[in-house]
Amino acid sequence: MLTKKYLRVASLATVLTFVFFGANAHNNAIPEMDEVDRFAQKVFQNAQLLSFRDKIEYCGFIGYDHQRSLVATTPNAGDADGCEPIDDGELDVIASYHTHGSYSADADTETPSVDDLVADFSEGIDGYVATPGGRFWVISLEDQATFLLCEKGCVQKDPEFKPCPAFTPKHSYTVEELKQREANDDGSC
Ligand SMILES: [Zn+2]
Repeated sequence: MLTKKYLRVASLATVLTFVFFGANAHNNAIPEMDEVDRFAQKVFQNAQLLSFRDKIEYCGFIGYDHQRSLVATTPNAGDADGCEPIDDGELDVIASYHTHGSYSADADTETPSVDDLVADFSEGIDGYVATPGGRFWVISLEDQATFLLCEKGCVQKDPEFKPCPAFTPKHSYTVEELKQREANDDGSC
């Protein structure tokens, strides 16, 4: 079982952030990526392009094969606002991954959803999400929260993406915090 300890990453940036911002430090620091994070980032290179082309979500699973190598299932197509990954039974699954399709002015797709977190936690796995704006998130089972891993082009951005400055995501969310974000979303920017 792979464990992740995003809240305990103590980089210099975290320390400096803590000095200046005190108790909000864990909301402001972007954690360093581990081996599985970097693998998921590569998986999204293809999945993001498929999503922008077809304007739907793509998804799959990440896990270990019989040789204990890290592998991913081929991304399968979902629809505009959902995707059910297919377990081929060949993997010791440790995480799901899915894209949030292509840019839509009507949907808040720059963070994982409440349902994304609940689904991964109920299956006992981590998760990865890539957004039309090029944000890359991990859903951590151990921490029961989602953390932004990268927001500056480490996964492809939809060329049609337009940012919503009034609704810029924080760097981490619990299920309760995501429920609050969804409740505050009146659909405008
Ligand atoms: Zn999602």
